[in-house]
Amino acid sequence: MSRRAGRHFLQIPGPSAVPDRILRAISAQTIDHRGPDFAEVGRTALEGMKTIFRTEAHVFIFPASGTGAWEAALVNTLAEGDRVLMYETGHFATLWKKMAERLGLAPEFIEGDWRGGADPEAIEARLRADTGQEIKAVCVVHNETSTGSVSPVADVRAAIDAAGHPALLMVDSISGLASIDFRFDEWGVDVCVSGSQKGLMLPPGLSFNAVSDKAMAVAKEGGMRRSYWDWTDMAGPNATGYFPYTPGTNLLYGLNEAIAMLHEEGLENVFARHARHGAATRAAVRGWGLEVLCARQGQESGVLTAVMMPEGHSADALRATVLEQSDISLGNGLSKVADRVFRIGHLGDFNDAMLLATLTGVERGLARAGVPHEARGVAEAIRVLDETDPPALAAE
Ligand SMILES: *Cc1c(COP(=O)(O)O)cnc(C)c1O
Repeated sequence: MSRRAGRHFLQIPGPSAVPDRILRAISAQTIDHRGPDFAEVGRTALEGMKTIFRTEAHVFIFPASGTGAWEAALVNTLAEGDRVLMYETGHFATLWKKMAERLGLAPEFIEGDWRGGADPEAIEARLRADTGQEIKAVCVVHNETSTGSVSPVADVRAAIDAAGHPALLMVDSISGLASIDFRFDEWGVDVCVSGSQKGLMLPPGLSFNAVSDKAMAVAKEGGMRRSYWDWTDMAGPNATGYFPYTPGTNLLYGLNEAIAMLHEEGLENVFARHARHGAATRAAVRGWGLEVLCARQGQESGVLTAVMMPEGHSADALRATVLEQSDISLGNGLSKVADRVFRIGHLGDFNDAMLLATLTGVERGLARAGVPHEARGVAEAIRVLDETDPPALAAE
């Protein structure tokens, strides 16, 4: 194998590229996680994540991928046989539902077309019909990473309240948190699930639960048999910055750096940057004469854009061409849309030059792979970027 010079572009919607500052933070020596120096690391991470979730309630950090924190959310709050209302936004919502089934829960899926976020009206209607209040939780994916659609979480909470239903609201914001607006307390979320390798710019390996007082009370009374994921076991040592078992010490160094970086930029600026890059990417897609998978206006993601291939053309062949020609990794289509869409990640530590390089790689790849298109995507993206200068520069 000969060396490829220059940086590889990891433009999949997670893991996102890890900034050098975080890589350096992670490279510090692992310390005794029960020693005196660790408390500060643990406390900074736990308190810092509250500022990212925008909550004053509880935050738990697991050495696990996001899937682990999905399981923690379910096993701490629900008992076997409990009914859960879930919404089919795409592949990740489907996987969470499969997990619920495997754990012995009774999930009910509101079917979706994979082209938008969860529909609060459909959720409200279903909850109103549940006169016996048997549904214990409503689960929605905030940023559906398989489709590039965003669910209106605050409206889902309003729908639950309008139905006068006591169900918990659980939200998967594994790929939304720290990239697009998320407000745990203000939106009345009961459990949020997140992960390290998307907007938080870390390698994979940490996952999170933010937990409301209401969900904490439910967990103390019930839930199902659990050990590793138990919130109460965590809460004890967490109070002084420690963990009941070995935490991901070096990833926590990185997490503290990531939280500092997000606040240095300002969360609002981070969200505006992602929204702007999403808008520029969608302009590029229109410039190519292709279609964005998300079809609901106002629900398009700032994290990634899923692009539909013209009939008879393979998304995976295009991705292979772009990787070969430009050393850029694009996201694949998952399950129902396998080979039908490719996904452009524009999340994490990312700027205009990186976006334009990525879009140029796609535009070249479309030509090389013989996909019918117009070579106007990059020009359209530049037009949108120039119309909306980054907030930090505009402020000067
Ligand atoms: C990435 C992702 C997951 C899965 O997380 P893992 O870290 O791969 O376990 C679940 N849901 C969403 C929305 C995601 O983006």
